[in-house]
Amino acid sequence: MGDTYDLIVIGTGPGGYVCAIRAAQLGLSVLVIEREARLGGVCTLRGCIPTKALLHTADLLEETRHGAEVGVATREVRLELAAAMKHKEKVVRQSSNGVAFLMKKNKVDVVNGFGRIAAPGRVSVAGADGRSQAESSIAGPQALAEAVEQYQAAFDRRHGGFGESPKFPRPAELLFLLREYARTGACAYIAAWDVHRAKLFGRCERKTGIAPFDRLVAQVMREEPYRSAHRVFLITDNGSSHRGRRAANRLRTKWPNIILVHTPLHASWLNQGEIYFSVVQRKVLTPNDFADLDTLQAQLLAFGRRYEEIAAPFQWKFTREDLHKLLAKTNTQPAN
Ligand SMILES: Cc1cc2nc3c(=O)[nH]c(=O)nc-3n(C[C@H](O)[C@H](O)[C@H](O)COP(=O)(O)OP(=O)(O)OC[C@H]3O[C@@H](n4cnc5c(N)ncnc54)[C@H](O)[C@@H]3O)c2cc1C
Repeated sequence: MGDTYDLIVIGTGPGGYVCAIRAAQLGLSVLVIEREARLGGVCTLRGCIPTKALLHTADLLEETRHGAEVGVATREVRLELAAAMKHKEKVVRQSSNGVAFLMKKNKVDVVNGFGRIAAPGRVSVAGADGRSQAESSIAGPQALAEAVEQYQAAFDRRHGGFGESPKFPRPAELLFLLREYARTGACAYIAAWDVHRAKLFGRCERKTGIAPFDRLVAQVMREEPYRSAHRVFLITDNGSSHRGRRAANRLRTKWPNIILVHTPLHASWLNQGEIYFSVVQRKVLTPNDFADLDTLQAQLLAFGRRYEEIAAPFQWKFTREDLHKLLAKTNTQPAN
């Protein structure tokens, strides 16, 4: 303390320590100030890490209690709370020590105390007793600007030859970029996917709801072979416009050959539409930056047509006989 640093970070939660480590790796001299005795913030000390350690214990307890159902029988299973807390504390300690190790490895200075921005470019620290004061200063934005420049150059080197790379903002430009951002609206892209014929039906609507969903269904059901098929299985996700008995009845009133199948959450992988939407998310909507809504809609629909050209029908290999065999096998297992 008392030195001049390129960057001073107050707090060593995931926001603080990741920032400090990355800045040090980019060549800045960095100081972090943490008021707690241990590093890692809420996530490491009280949030994500300890809760996941305790959840692991709870999962294990629950699984073991029901182990007999799958052939793992134990005499007595009980929770040893003290041991569970000890294990949780060990995981927290390891995680916090890991943060401390990363600070050391990346030559980030660490000070324990309460940090405060005393003046522009100056940070003061009060010790745990609240009295002992120390002060440190920041070298100014020049070093940060140089680090950003280096990062930009490294990015350009790595992505050179793929056209113009995005320009990282220099610190002074951040506000300008934010002012340029204009939100031009949103649209709802809804789609249906015929798994057996690799055919896509997509449409852009102003918002989701019963009427837009029914328009999508109409778009499908107008066409052959769906219009005169004996049965059309419509497998849907969790949207409220197409869930439950009321939705099934509504659809059958309009299209008597439709059978609505609402996949439970654990079987959502059966819904090939979800896979398509994850592809759309990655290929069309990242980065999420379009001149206007018309451009966005045109690109979504064009991607749908392209997807249809390259997609192959889904070959379902698990037959009804396979299912019967599996059920017979599980039924012959002893109950405990
Ligand atoms: C029970 C629980 C479970 C959670 N589970 C998850 C999860 O599974 N996944 C997930 O992504 N998120 C989870 N979170 C959220 C996650 O913990 C927070 O999003 C994350 O910790 C935020 O990080 P941060 O760096 O912004 O702030 P924090 O983690 O709050 O860190 C701030 C740090 O700054 C220090 N500090 C503050 N002021 C000063 C000062 N003036 N001087 C010196 N030091 C100071 C604090 O002591 C602290 O160490 C959970 C949160 C809780 C409470």
